[in-house]
Amino acid sequence: MRQENVLVDNFGRTVNYVRISVTDRCDFRCVYCMDEEMQFVPRAKLLSLEEIGVIARAFTELGVGKIRITGGEPLIRRNIIKLFRDIGQLDGLDELVLTTNGSQLPKLAGELKDAGVKRINISLDSLDPDKFRRLTRVGELDKVLAGIDAALATGFEKIKINSVILKNRNDDEVTDLVEFASTRGMDISFIEEMPLGVIGEHDRAEAYYSSDEIRADLDAHYTLLPTTETTGGPSRYYHIAETSTRVGFISPHSHNFCDSCNRVRLTCEGRLLLCLGQEHSVDLRQVIRTHPGDMDRLKQALRASMNIKPKGHEFDLSAKPVIFRHMNMTGG
Ligand code: SAM
Ligand code: SF4
Repeated sequence: MRQENVLVDNFGRTVNYVRISVTDRCDFRCVYCMDEEMQFVPRAKLLSLEEIGVIARAFTELGVGKIRITGGEPLIRRNIIKLFRDIGQLDGLDELVLTTNGSQLPKLAGELKDAGVKRINISLDSLDPDKFRRLTRVGELDKVLAGIDAALATGFEKIKINSVILKNRNDDEVTDLVEFASTRGMDISFIEEMPLGVIGEHDRAEAYYSSDEIRADLDAHYTLLPTTETTGGPSRYYHIAETSTRVGFISPHSHNFCDSCNRVRLTCEGRLLLCLGQEHSVDLRQVIRTHPGDMDRLKQALRASMNIKPKGHEFDLSAKPVIFRHMNMTGG
């Protein structure tokens, strides 16, 4: 591929992975992701599905081979399957993947597979209905379990569970969550809570439960074999001996992953975020609304954005939050 047709930043990192948040709205209100009262983006400011499709095409023409659709809860956006179908047909795209809370999967799993989605990440932090309700504020565990069953029955290539672990809230469940995933042939990743947005529900520093603590909990029950395998994301993986299940750790605090960063994020209002933990961004909505149909100009904006991709994040749980956008805006 010619040099002008790839995205390379000033630190020599090639960007080949884009996460797109298609909505900031959600049917859950997870305590680490959102505050109880949230202001959502007014509809006029949201990118349309067509605009998202155009930006996705520009990215694939610049060497991006992997696109993750996320949110908010992506599957509650109206007509979202059309976007999956459009993106699924883009030349040069190797992987169309999804992160979801699972609540809509009983309805949509089949259509997602038909649209070309091969891998799904489903978030699940607890197997106890009351605890699940407290962590999501409004979520029903049964619905998510039904969504996981529907995804398993549909036959995606890979399904991965994502669990955010908070001290004294669900840290007693890490083994049960691994058991749940492995008996169903799924992978699981544990995510350290990140300080994105102001939340009143708990103190993020007090709730911090590190990947190393989770590893130690699991070591008491399983043999974890380190692997150098990667799925192109920030997880460090281990195999559980004698199963096909991989356990991943996403550890922005304890094992910074910025050196190998290959990704950028698009918010639902069209802001291209160059780093999860920094505010450097480009307003792509303005580019495409000022120059509709001008693919060259859009691609030029994407190339230019590489000049402001920061070296890395500097999360500090004990300091006042410096990133005021919540994860539902960021596109986790
Ligand atoms: N609603 C979908 C879901 O929950 O899977 C997709 C969007 S959600 C923002 C994506 C992932 O980010 C979820 O796995 C969620 O647990 C995680 N997440 C949200 N807020 C977080 C935070 N402050 N720190 C770490 N992970 C977070
Ligand atoms: Fe919704 Fe996902 Fe955020 Fe939970 S983590 S509130 S499910 S967007």
